[in-house]
Amino acid sequence: MNLEQIKYQTCPWDQEEGVLLTDINEDLPDTDADGELQYYCLSGRHVFSYDEDSENERRK
Ligand SMILES: [Zn+2]
Repeated sequence: MNLEQIKYQTCPWDQEEGVLLTDINEDLPDTDADGELQYYCLSGRHVFSYDEDSENERRK
C-alpha cells in the first residue's frame, strides 16, 4: 500500500481536500467497519470514507 498516493482525497461534500486519517499508534490508515479508508476534510470538518474498489466499479 502506497500511503503517498492515498494520502489525499477530494471531499464529496464540498470538493475540498481531505487528508487521510491514520492510527498514530500503529502508523496505519484508519478504516471504518467496512475497511474503507477514512479522510478528514480540513475546510468543512467533514469525515468521509473512500472505497478504492468503488472507483473501479468492482463489487465486493
Ligand atoms: Zn468537506
